[in-house]
Amino acid sequence: MNTPKEHEESGPEDDDTHPRTIYIAGAGIAGMTLALALAKHNFHIIILEKTHAPTTEGAGLQISPNARHVLNDLGLNQAMNEFGFETKAIDIYPHMHKKPLVSLELGDAIEQRFKAPYCVIHRADLFGLLFDACKEHNNIQFFFGVKTFDMEAHARGVSITFELATGEVQNTRAHAFIGADGVHSQTRRKILNGPDAIYSGYVAWRTLIPTSMMHNQLNLEHTSLMWGPGYHAIAYPHPNRHVINIALFAKEKLSPDTHVQQVSTPSLATKNIRCPRLKAIFIAAEGAWQKWPLNAAKTSEWHRGPIGLIGDAAHAMLPYQAQGAAMAIEDAAILAPLLAAEDNATSALSKFQKLRQNRVEKVVATAAKNGKIYHMEWPFSIARDIVVSAEGPRGHFKRLAWIYDYNPLEEISQFDANA
Ligand SMILES: Cc1cc2nc3c(=O)[nH]c(=O)nc-3n(C[C@H](O)[C@H](O)[C@H](O)COP(=O)(O)OP(=O)(O)OC[C@H]3O[C@@H](n4cnc5c(N)ncnc54)[C@H](O)[C@@H]3O)c2cc1C
Repeated sequence: MNTPKEHEESGPEDDDTHPRTIYIAGAGIAGMTLALALAKHNFHIIILEKTHAPTTEGAGLQISPNARHVLNDLGLNQAMNEFGFETKAIDIYPHMHKKPLVSLELGDAIEQRFKAPYCVIHRADLFGLLFDACKEHNNIQFFFGVKTFDMEAHARGVSITFELATGEVQNTRAHAFIGADGVHSQTRRKILNGPDAIYSGYVAWRTLIPTSMMHNQLNLEHTSLMWGPGYHAIAYPHPNRHVINIALFAKEKLSPDTHVQQVSTPSLATKNIRCPRLKAIFIAAEGAWQKWPLNAAKTSEWHRGPIGLIGDAAHAMLPYQAQGAAMAIEDAAILAPLLAAEDNATSALSKFQKLRQNRVEKVVATAAKNGKIYHMEWPFSIARDIVVSAEGPRGHFKRLAWIYDYNPLEEISQFDANA
């Protein structure tokens, strides 16, 4: 593992090495995308990750055009095409419907409209391709198994201490420190004294089912979105792994410190659900589910001086608009050029928050509203279905254009960092 020898212990007065060094906590989607975006600007990037290898927890992700622009710009288009899959449509099945109420067009139609593909990808594949891309840059270094970190900001940057898996403690300095350490971010809670994550009251039950078991129930070229009273579920294929990713969302009482658990049956399965499609999913899953508490994180302070937050660390949201990772990727694309354009990291992070906060808050609100719509009980669900059906197969092109049309690279190229 690399050691940032040239950056070891130097006092705040010694300023000749650190201005182009940025530390990032978290080798997740936000952290690795930011590292790649910064590498283009010749920064030296050091990623501190608490796990002992790139983590592959979780299963599928939908990656929409707004995020894909960024990944393509980082040279990942071919890898995304190789590992991802462009489902042709989202079939919406209200509770007990045999056929989709509507099939929202994806595939070529969405790519033509928003100038980038909409794909699904296994999280491990996305992590793998980001990690491989990072390894191509000798100005990106990783430390895995990092036990703790602490830091102090001062006028000329940040003094950082971190403890490696071996117990060795390193003292170093940097231009900025960015917490991309997820929903339970230590940077947000411990370094910036920000709020803890809050349990949303909902869980996601997740499983992977062999593709061969769902041929009769789902169109395996499409994403399927199932709506029901008090729950919804999403299913899409990962053809490269011969599995279908299933996530099932519903309310559940849990203590705030509950972590991801292996469970044999989602609570919903015991609630006399009559939907044949869901029943088929429960049978095919063969009791292999993971229960994920869905936590949200909100803080008004996205940075203090040169110590900042991006991704879930700044704004973890319900995954009901499939935009958490997309927002993390957008964050990275906006923050990197701001850090490059400014001598002062504090000023760059302040501009970053101004540029990002409204958009992210709107996405957070949209995701929460989706939950209410998807989970509607009868008779409200009748009105919902009439509206969605009337919007037609391209209704989402109009309704969600503000999300998908956004290209962070265009946004930042039009932004005058010195304004
Ligand atoms: C069920 C579900 C489905 C989802 N579906 C989608 C979807 O379809 N599309 C989408 O865009 N988003 C989706 N999301 C949201 C998405 O997963 C997150 O928004 C995204 O992973 C956030 O990325 P991140 O890098 O900020 O955080 P994370 O992916 O959580 O990465 C944080 C990293 O920091 C590390 N870390 C944590 N603490 C420390 C520490 N103290 N020191 C060092 N390292 C640390 C972690 O080990 C991890 O590697 C979904 C979420 C869920 C729960």
